[in-house]
Amino acid sequence: MVAVGERELVRQQLDELHEKYRLTGDDEVVSYYPPEAEADRHLFGLAGTNVDGTQWQAGDCSVPFPLHSVSKVFTYGLALEDNGTEETLRRVGVEPSGDPFNSITFDEVHHRPHNPMINAGALVAASLVAGKDVDEKVDRILERYRVYAGNPELAVDQRILRQQLRSNDRNLGLCYIMRSLGMIDGDIEEVVETYLSACSITVTAADLSVMGATLAKGGVNPFTGERAVAREHVRSIVSVMMSCGMYDAAGQWANEVGIPAKSGVSGDIVCVLPRYFGFGVYSPGLDVHGNSVRGVNLCRELSATFGLHVFADPADSRFGRVAQPTEAGAPAEG
Ligand code: GLN
Repeated sequence: MVAVGERELVRQQLDELHEKYRLTGDDEVVSYYPPEAEADRHLFGLAGTNVDGTQWQAGDCSVPFPLHSVSKVFTYGLALEDNGTEETLRRVGVEPSGDPFNSITFDEVHHRPHNPMINAGALVAASLVAGKDVDEKVDRILERYRVYAGNPELAVDQRILRQQLRSNDRNLGLCYIMRSLGMIDGDIEEVVETYLSACSITVTAADLSVMGATLAKGGVNPFTGERAVAREHVRSIVSVMMSCGMYDAAGQWANEVGIPAKSGVSGDIVCVLPRYFGFGVYSPGLDVHGNSVRGVNLCRELSATFGLHVFADPADSRFGRVAQPTEAGAPAEG
């Protein structure tokens, strides 16, 4: 268990960092998605959930937002479960593309999209989710996301889905090109609707931290004890987050923050430190890569403060990793 003194220390630090970045200016913000989200520029939530179920929250942790690209992580897990590792890898790679999330580029050598964290690969992953039609696939996605979050209320926001379906030429275009190249099969409109439905599932920063903690705990939700994904797939999911999760800033993120993570254009970021915790961050202002400006800055400092970079020695940080992994979070569990 996290000792009470440590819990208080973490809470204090999170509050301090939240306050520091809440007050920073908008200089680095280049956009909001959708543009109306500018009205929500003040929103900023940070939640952390330890694998033993300790949770910390700072700021706007109960405000719902659509997962957008963060959904790619969890849908990829379903593709792995429903098709096995080998078949999934045949259909979508694990190499960073170095291109923006919606780029129209493919791994021509292996005849597949580069990875499941960019749109081309996420669309293929969505097509691989089991189900005979969109409704069945979306039900399966929802059912599984609810287990990750331990929240049976998670739902697709139909207004956001409709909005996305209306301005969706690029995803449709990607799918048509991929189908012409033999990289994807089936009804393109259904694939895109499945993918965008997952993007339109709304969560809070608190939910997102639990979803991350479930991956950190080897696929088991720390509150409910329910398994969301087989442990054998967690390694693949978290690895691809590390190499490809932050779009074309993934290398810089790995260098400076060093925690497997995935961002979405609503300004959300999920971080997974295996065997320790998950973090969920939400703040709508985006940088040039489409990553949350406050989110990235805060995670960089959080990582340095608590020695969370997976390749750093926690002893070199200000506090070290105070929340040590528990027996329940150790890899041998469950
Ligand atoms: N729903 C968005 C899209 O596919 C998600 C993109 C993102 O978060 N980067 O266009």
